[in-house]
Order: sequence, then C-alpha cells, then structure tokens
Amino acid sequence: MTASTHSLTENLADAADHLARFAEQPLLHLIGGEEVASVSGETFTNHSPIDQSVLGEVASGDTADIDAAARRAEQAFGVWQSMGPVGRQKVLRDVARLVTERARQIALVECIDTGQTMRFMSAAAIRGAANFSYFADHATSVANGQSLPTDTHINYTTRKAIGPVGVITPWNTPFMLSTWKIAPALAAGCTVVHKPAEWSPLTAHLLAEIALEAGLPPGVLNVVHGLGHTAGKSLTEHPSIKAVAFVGESSTGSAIQAQGAPTLKRVHFELGGKNPVIVFDDADMERALRAVTFMIYSLNGERCTSSSRVLVQDGIYREFTEKLAERIKTIPVGHPLDPSTVIGPLVHPRHTQKVTSYLEAADAEGATVHRGTAMADAPSDNFVEPILFTDATNDMKIAQEEIFGPALTAIPFSDEADAIKIANDIDYGLAGYLWTNDVSRAHRVAEALDAGMIWVNSQNVRHLPTPFGGTKASGIGRDGGDWSFDFYTETKNISIALGDHPIPNLAD
Ligand code: NAD
Repeated sequence: MTASTHSLTENLADAADHLARFAEQPLLHLIGGEEVASVSGETFTNHSPIDQSVLGEVASGDTADIDAAARRAEQAFGVWQSMGPVGRQKVLRDVARLVTERARQIALVECIDTGQTMRFMSAAAIRGAANFSYFADHATSVANGQSLPTDTHINYTTRKAIGPVGVITPWNTPFMLSTWKIAPALAAGCTVVHKPAEWSPLTAHLLAEIALEAGLPPGVLNVVHGLGHTAGKSLTEHPSIKAVAFVGESSTGSAIQAQGAPTLKRVHFELGGKNPVIVFDDADMERALRAVTFMIYSLNGERCTSSSRVLVQDGIYREFTEKLAERIKTIPVGHPLDPSTVIGPLVHPRHTQKVTSYLEAADAEGATVHRGTAMADAPSDNFVEPILFTDATNDMKIAQEEIFGPALTAIPFSDEADAIKIANDIDYGLAGYLWTNDVSRAHRVAEALDAGMIWVNSQNVRHLPTPFGGTKASGIGRDGGDWSFDFYTETKNISIALGDHPIPNLAD
C-alpha cells in the first residue's frame, strides 16, 4: 500500500510516533558517527508549519562544530577511499534499500517538517532511494577517463575524488534534494559535511542514521545543523572542504561564492527559477492545462522548476486562463497528511508573508487576481489557496520575481518571436516548457530558450542520466549522470611518450 492510501487519522498517528523522539530531546549534529551537541550548547526551535506548534529543539552549530565535522570528514576520506568503488557501491545500495524500507517514515516526518503533502512526499522518499541506487550502479565507472593519443604520446585521463565536500540544502523538498547531492558525492568517493536548512532539519538526520546502519563508515557523512550565516557560512569557508554543492536562493549562491573565494572553493549551484511555459494556439489544450496546473500547484508551488509564468498565445489566452481560474477552485488545500490534499501549509510564516505580498503587488500593478478555495478552519495563515494572476505583463514584479508558492502569472503573447522574447526576458534560466504540435517550431523554440532544461509537450519528467541545472541566475554546473561525478572529482591527464620524440636541447 502506498503512503497516500492511508487515511488522515492513520497518518497522524504514525507521524506522532515518528516525531516523538524529536520532541523529547534536542536533535543533535551527527559527527564522526556520533550524535553531539553544539560546542556552544546553543539550540534553535523547530516549528510545525501547520500550526506553529513546537516540533523540538535543534542543535545550532557554528564554526567549532563545522571544524569538528570537516576534520572527521578529512580523516574518513582515506577509509572511504580504501573501500574501493565496489565496496562503496555495496554500502550505497544498502542505503537505497533502507530508504525504501523507511520511505513512509521519511515521508511523514518530511510532511510535518515542511508542510509538503503526503500525496507527493511518499514519492519523494522513493526518488531519494532511486538516487542512491542510480549513483551506486555507476560508482564503478567514476574513475573512467578518455584516451587522447597523438603520434608521439599516449594521453589518458583518470578521475579521483576531490576530498571532503560541503552540501548545503534548502527546505522545500529537503530529503530528495539532499540525496541528489550526497549520493553522487559518496559514490565518487568523497566524504560529506551536510548543512540542512534550518526550517526543515529532521529528515537529514534520518538519512545519516540510515547511512550508518547501511555500513557507511563513521565520518563519511556528517550532519551539522544551524543557521545559514553561522554554520552554513563556516562550512563554505573551511579549508578542508574542497567543494560546495549548494541548492537554494540565487542571492545565497552569490554570498557563498564570495565566502568560498579565499579558499578557492569549487562550487556547484542550483538556484532559483521563474520558468516559462509557452502554450501555442495549436497545442493540445487539455493536456497543456493539466501540465501547467500540475507544475505550479504541486509541491505547494515551492519548487525550483515550477512553471510559474504561463505565456499563452493571444488567440487562446482568454479561454485558457478562464479554464485555469475554474480549475484552481477545485484544488484541495488542507492538512499535509490528508491523502486528498494537494496544497499544504507553506513552510514558515515569513515565507507565507513573502508569497502573499504578491497579491498586493499584482493589484498595484494592475493585474487581475484569481483565488482558489480556502481551507475551512485553517489552523494557521500558512495555508494559502492557489493564486492565478491574469492580464499580466512581463515587466511586473509577479512576472519577474520568484514567488516560490502556489502562484501563477499568465501573460499573453502574439507570435513565436514574441514568446521567445518574453520567455528570455528574465534573470533566471532554469527550465522552460513549451506546448505545440508543430515539430519544427518545437525545435526552433527549444533551441532559442535560454534555460538549462526544456520540456516539450510535457511537465517536468526527470531522467537521472540527463543533465539538471540552469543558466544565468539559476545556477552554475549540472547534476545528473556523469555530470555529477565531474563535479566531485579531479581529472588527471597522464601522458606517456611512445618512443624517441624530439626533446629540445638547451645546452647546445
Ligand atoms: P536559502 O538560500 O535561503 O537557503 C538554502 C540553504 O543555504 C539553507 O540551508 C541555509 O541555511 C543556507 N544558507 C543561507 N545563507 C547562507 C550563507 N551565507 N552561507 C552558507 N549557507 C547559507 O534558500 P531556501 O529559501 O532554503 O530555498 C528556496 C530556494 O531554493 C528557492 O530560490 C528555490 O528556487 C531554490 N531551489 C533551487 C533548486 C534547483 O535545483 N535549482 C531546487 C530547490 C530549491
């Protein structure tokens, strides 16, 4: 039985069981395989997005805790290397198996910690396991290189793990996103210090706990909780940490690049998005409507690849947006553990305030605001019904800024050139979606869109070997397949002379 087929009552009872430990005692760091409090003894309070009740205290790390974790990661690097790719593969396959076995627990805890709904989180935990399986399967090909011979020399390349790395993750789908970084780093032979988001710290602990149970040597994966400007900043500055894989806001990415500059950190950034979905008048309207609705109102709209700007050809704009406005009224907003809920509470009152501030911005700029159906007796203001802005233009705040909530901005366009111009007129370049039945136009527009990933006649359907990442303010680097391994390894070229090639003699 999948998790979403359990009733709300069953989910609440099981979630309470899994959450009790976090309420009873503070959630500690996991350094060198041991649970440890912060050197300073500091903690911060973790609240439920549902009603702001206290879920528990969490150790608040800073420089001393990061230093301890980085040193343990450095010590464990040799141990992890000595296990070889096959040894690492076996452990990572066991992690995948244990994540699958505990997928329901992970999903329940994730829902209560983030406000994401069970409907989607049960699949997210399984996706996390799939990330471990995929990168485990490829662990034995990490060192593979190229053969680049000349007349006089054989050149061949090899790859070696870069060393201990830092992984910094956001709060929107924390478990899945952390596996997306940690699994390839471990498969490549790196050791990891993970700094999870302070608004959703719980499932990072579950993952590290599972990894230890699977036989990951102590110190190979360490978790330090804490705030961005203390624990996060220290991690990006630590000299033993060779690279930082970061998922979060574009402005935080800029800060991390500056913080890492003195120690020449290699960085990999997956940042914000304001992704266009272009609907041409020859598209299959019902399928496009369904995909547009799914890509902005699933995962509470707290999704980097959400289709947050829908550009609709002017001949069908009115009909398309009227249908959207009708459709959003039927999207259920409710408790995240209710299997019928699509939109749960937003993660934090500060984020809710940011998302709802765009209602006034839209009004002030002259767009029309449509709302879905509010949850009856909502336990807090974090429950926000679906929002649709129509009659919008691309220069409005609602079209230019990442709202990161269930809010869609609909903009009309006249022809192909106009659609491309509007789509690219944005600081971000993560994903683009387009709907047309004209195959030549599909290729032309896909080529012209300035974004790292394009889906044609489709929602975001992820295939693990393909590259994931963005252009412009949406990121630096690509994840997925061998692109992940490139980031976590150093490439070495070895050049061997085949015979007596000429060597200049400076002594003549
Ligand atoms: P955020 O940038 O505020 O925080 C992300 C992480 O960075 C947190 O762990 C935080 O503590 C840490 N951090 C903050 N300041 C830091 C600093 N100075 N040094 C080091 N670490 C620091 O992002 P968020 O609000 O948690 O997440 C939402 C953002 O993440 C959105 O912009 C969204 O688009 C983006 N995101 C991108 C992708 C992608 O794949 N491109 C995926 C998911 C989310």
